[in-house]
Amino acid sequence: MEETIKIYPSNWLMTAGIVGFTKIFWQSKFYRINDNELEILDFEDVKKEFIEKYFLKSRELRTPLKTFYNNSRLSNNRFKRNGETDIDKTNKYFFENVRNGQLLCSFCNQRRAIERKESKNNGDADFSVVRLDEVHFTPLGSSPENLANLYWEGNPANFLCLPCELIVYCAAFGFTKVGKGYFFINAPATIKEVVEMNEIWAEYIGQGKDRSFKESLIEILKRMERAKAKWTLQNISFIELSPSSENTFNIYSFNIPVETANAVRKMIESYPKSLRDVYDIFIDNIYSKKTLYDMVGDIVYGYLNRERLEGIDNRNLQKSPTGRLVLSGKYLKNPKDLLFFLKFQKEVEEYGQ
Ligand SMILES: [Zn+2]
Repeated sequence: MEETIKIYPSNWLMTAGIVGFTKIFWQSKFYRINDNELEILDFEDVKKEFIEKYFLKSRELRTPLKTFYNNSRLSNNRFKRNGETDIDKTNKYFFENVRNGQLLCSFCNQRRAIERKESKNNGDADFSVVRLDEVHFTPLGSSPENLANLYWEGNPANFLCLPCELIVYCAAFGFTKVGKGYFFINAPATIKEVVEMNEIWAEYIGQGKDRSFKESLIEILKRMERAKAKWTLQNISFIELSPSSENTFNIYSFNIPVETANAVRKMIESYPKSLRDVYDIFIDNIYSKKTLYDMVGDIVYGYLNRERLEGIDNRNLQKSPTGRLVLSGKYLKNPKDLLFFLKFQKEVEEYGQ
């Protein structure tokens, strides 16, 4: 029996690709998702179905392939017959006119990079090594002058083996459209957890919630506990492809320490409604790992001095986080609501003891 092919989520591009691959083939039996790898049991089956299912999925999800793969054979320069994608020709191009080259694939460091027969203008055809270049893969691919794409890690020899090439092509389906941009969440978690995270996030954002990344991450942490996910989610990254920055991806990283994640899991549902106006400040404090005592102090100050504060224009207080906390104290009906922050702080500090 042929050896299985393993694809590791070694960078966000490969992880997005694995997530995209599962969307194309979700009910198929020829692959397995293990904790830390995609295992393809029968690559011949993948080859047979890949191209056709790929285009079906791009229509279903309305993924603009050109946005991700510029002039590749799957987007702009696709083979066509009567205006429609020519599946047979595309199959031939991808799976028949290829051979293993001498170089190792830069993405898996296991398999040989492939060489593919490309037709030249004079009608001749020549084999050339397949690489993640900027012609076919803008903005995923990068020129040596443009090192902005993180997964690339300054490696100029970005050669691809056939399985890794297909995975790169699947990455577009790992992204979620929000407004005019496309987002993918990556985290040092198992593949299934990353898939789940992206699903939860897509659902949350799909409800039209106008919230910050930070707040939506709290939402993910909150909901993933129900699925008994592990609490090791640190260094979560949001990878954004936005139309304003066509040649690069923006990457926003957030770090949620395990003790904070634990407190969120246990307590976030009981966040007091009376303090909803300062929820964003609470979230900021969590991310910046500040203790909540200062925050409580500011609110208490507002509560105790509420009569004196009558003489101050609320609009002035709204200009700074401290002012907003004082203001929320001014209108606080029940000071017991502040216990939430103290309990939360205690939960964080006593984690693991
Ligand atoms: Zn490879």
